[in-house]
Amino acid sequence: MHRPAPPDCTPENLAFDAALAQVLGALSPLPRHHTLALEQALGRVLAQPLVAGMDLQPWPNSAMDGYAFAAADADTAHAAGLQLAGTALAGHPFTGTLGRGQCVRILTGAILPAGADTVAMQEHVTVHDGRVRLQRPVPPGANVRAPGEDVRAGQTVLPAGSRLGPPQIALAASLGVRTVTVGARPRVALFTSGDELTPLGEPLGAGAIYDSNRYLLRALLQELGAEVVDLGIVADDPAAVRAAFAAAREGADVVVSSGGVSVGDADYVRDVFAEFGAIHFWRIAMKPGRPLAFGRLGDTWFFGLPGNPVSTAVTFHEFVRPALRRLEGEAPTPALRLELPLLEPLRKAPGRLDFQRGIVAPGADGRLGVRSAGAQGSHVMSSLAAANCLLVLPADAGDLPAGAVVTVELLPWPGTPRAGA
Ligand code: AMP
Ligand code: MG
Repeated sequence: MHRPAPPDCTPENLAFDAALAQVLGALSPLPRHHTLALEQALGRVLAQPLVAGMDLQPWPNSAMDGYAFAAADADTAHAAGLQLAGTALAGHPFTGTLGRGQCVRILTGAILPAGADTVAMQEHVTVHDGRVRLQRPVPPGANVRAPGEDVRAGQTVLPAGSRLGPPQIALAASLGVRTVTVGARPRVALFTSGDELTPLGEPLGAGAIYDSNRYLLRALLQELGAEVVDLGIVADDPAAVRAAFAAAREGADVVVSSGGVSVGDADYVRDVFAEFGAIHFWRIAMKPGRPLAFGRLGDTWFFGLPGNPVSTAVTFHEFVRPALRRLEGEAPTPALRLELPLLEPLRKAPGRLDFQRGIVAPGADGRLGVRSAGAQGSHVMSSLAAANCLLVLPADAGDLPAGAVVTVELLPWPGTPRAGA
């Protein structure tokens, strides 16, 4: 049976790019912010720019183990040599001032003594009887890290919307920043729907399957650091779906469901949602994942993902992931896509934009290429587990020969080798 689409939705088969733009255009960062100690902030998104309160480097210091001297003494340094006046270690400055014809033994990271402006590497000098002679020319200012060379006080080093990885954390720490203000992680209510779904730990009845999407979605959400509210399995019954939405909207920023958004007799999720809220679209011209409902219910966003596990994973990856990142306040960046040659011929039916599971690997010549990860049915989990990328194949493409250049999006989780492959 085909039921008509809800009246408030966009036309069928919205183009992928248009759908993604609609999602990202509709969402804005959550207004909740937290101030965290820097050591708690890995993976979080800055809600305010990080502005340098000091120069980096703070002092002129040596980039090498060697000898610090004044460039004006270079001729003496080559001819008679310079008199060794003391030592500067990292954290233990040379406290005097260099006189003419003098140098100081200096180690990496030590502040340059007053009167010195150049460092000769220790490999480029000889030392005899307290005199240090240059063995080769050293340009003025060599091997000195200048104050503010990396960052100047007052400079914005990380704009709001930056996600904090280890290098960003280290940059903040080098500027003495102890706390950062970050966006809240979205609270996501999750349910799966289908009368065939069985919780793990129970025997499977005839025609039943395990509710793998619950684990898939939980894992995908955990990986993004979302707060997950798991509402369990919801029966193919409008009253049950209504109850699930009523529970889901309690305090959730986003509701994610799987299953029941297609046009089958038992697909109630989209229609029931439309009783409460507005569906922005529900069909996208992509494979897998054509039925994907996106809507809004008050302050809560709704993603009704298709039930086939690979469709669930791909639509989550392409739509829910960027949406959650946006809600957390991350500045939107387009997915990083690479162009790689096919290592083997590839099958593709013309008609829809196709996200095929692939494996990026070196070919026989040692150069990087990409091949199919195996069978591409939207129920085939093993090829999803084997994949480390998605091949993004345009709608009009048909079968492709080995060597054809295709667009590839790396997946953020590791592909596991298949037995026998
Ligand atoms: P649906 O989108 O409800 O029409 O489901 C499409 C296909 O996905 C059917 O074969 C379902 O049995 C399967 N499916 C739906 N939900 C899940 C789930 N939570 N875990 C695993 N497979 C599912
Ligand atoms: Mg179903």
